[in-house]
Amino acid sequence: MSLSHETIVIVGTGFAGLGMAIRLKKSGIENFVLLEKADEVGGTWRDNHYPGAACDVPSPVYSFSFEPNPNWTRVFSPQAEILEYLKHCADKYQIRSHIRFHSLVQSASFDEKSGLWTVHIEGQPALMCRFLILGTGGLSRPAYPDIPGLKDYQGPLFHTAAWRHDVPLRGKRVGVIGTGASAIQVIPELVHEVQELKVFQRTPAWVLPKADGVLPKRSQAGNWFLRKALYWRFEMRALALLKPKLMRFGQKMAMEYLEEQVKDPVLRKKLTPRYIMGCKRVLLSNDFYQAMSLPQTRLITDGIERIKPGGIKTRDGVEHELDVVICATGFQVAEATAPFRIVGRSGQVLSEVWKDGAQAYLGTTVTGFPNLFIIVGPNSGLGHNSIVFIIESQVQYIMDALRQALRSRWSSVEVRPDVQVAFNDKIQKLLAPTVWSREHCRSWYQTPSGKNTTIWPGFSFTFRLKTLQFDAAAYDCRVSETVGETVQPQLNPLHSR
Ligand code: NAP
Repeated sequence: MSLSHETIVIVGTGFAGLGMAIRLKKSGIENFVLLEKADEVGGTWRDNHYPGAACDVPSPVYSFSFEPNPNWTRVFSPQAEILEYLKHCADKYQIRSHIRFHSLVQSASFDEKSGLWTVHIEGQPALMCRFLILGTGGLSRPAYPDIPGLKDYQGPLFHTAAWRHDVPLRGKRVGVIGTGASAIQVIPELVHEVQELKVFQRTPAWVLPKADGVLPKRSQAGNWFLRKALYWRFEMRALALLKPKLMRFGQKMAMEYLEEQVKDPVLRKKLTPRYIMGCKRVLLSNDFYQAMSLPQTRLITDGIERIKPGGIKTRDGVEHELDVVICATGFQVAEATAPFRIVGRSGQVLSEVWKDGAQAYLGTTVTGFPNLFIIVGPNSGLGHNSIVFIIESQVQYIMDALRQALRSRWSSVEVRPDVQVAFNDKIQKLLAPTVWSREHCRSWYQTPSGKNTTIWPGFSFTFRLKTLQFDAAAYDCRVSETVGETVQPQLNPLHSR
């Protein structure tokens, strides 16, 4: 079977975009293009190169199932190795010839009559395609804190996801805002270099030790068993997220770890979390608490009042003079889900449809937006296991949709509104008894009104089971006898490259 008379556009070249492209290629489909805003593949693993950046999911599971990597040096790989792995995948599966680098998508709109998407790219002619697949990820837009005076600061100020390697930190007075997953990785790296490190914490996080270590080559080369064992070990963590009562065991472990690591009772109190574990991502680190206990480190919990030209003023009136300010303040997740203006059938705009919270069917398709597939869309994120598992599930589902569309000569497929509504009602019901819905639980998984639009409320294998096959009955599929002909003229510019 071939889809050669169709055109597919994929946006992004991280795990999602590359995973989709490789699957198309493996199925003998060549007429697809990937649009990438940067000059290299890798997505979040290309952009997050701050000191200490590493994955908090073991690499044997945080990699494609079809491409085991015998070269991981550690259980939890550093960023550079993951980026190398993604470059290797792009090369090995000959994806690079399909990629247009420096291609920032500005908007996309769907034409109901032809069943085609028009994709507008900055500084380039528009592109038409039948299927548009977003692999743009949720963690691609750095969020700078909304603190008065941010622009007044006169020294270097940058985000962990846009690290300035040109700014020397040795011997400087450095401020880090935030104590999330990025901060706890970067702080232990900086602490030995700087003269003084001030960490501005708003909410203390739950931290557990990281079972990291060297990964011997022989234990992993093509090791199916290692992957499965790690997958199931991490999958079990979902139990406590879904049944909050079980979380007390994790909390006890974390409190014991905190007590063992931090001897100063005042500091320990400041670092003690005040919400149920799992509400925000559980952090794994063997050196964060040690770094916080060093004499050159100070944990500031008084709340930031404003940023001044020479440092940060806290609510207790103290002005902390700083040579460099680093924002480890996370990502604009809601905006990233609809990363550019997407205009669907009848002119509806995705970001407006989603203004009270994103929703989709199986985190992948959206009513009113035919032939659009989103990888890691609403409520498909995980708090407990490898997101690559979810990505591969969605890729399988999309692949099956494309196959069926070709076979049946559908010009468009659009998820039925009743199906999407019922699916999301169920998602919210399943979320209700979980840790993410507990009182006082606030995280970037939620909208400002508190609705969780990010997390898949279950085991990842249940997501896999639901996405094994494209369930055409859930969709409005329109047939056109001229599918091939309508799209064919648009193929030429792509193939002349
Ligand atoms: P994050 O988890 O959203 O943490 C942001 C931190 O900045 C939080 O401590 C937050 O405090 C603080 N913050 C935000 N705005 C602030 C403000 N105006 N004033 C003071 N503090 C402020 O961001 P992240 O650490 O970059 O991690 C984001 C996600 O990226 C993670 O959840 C994870 O999925 C992923 N990540 C993964 C890895 C990995 O190892 N695989 C590593 C890094 C990141 P509050 O808690 O009070 O909001």
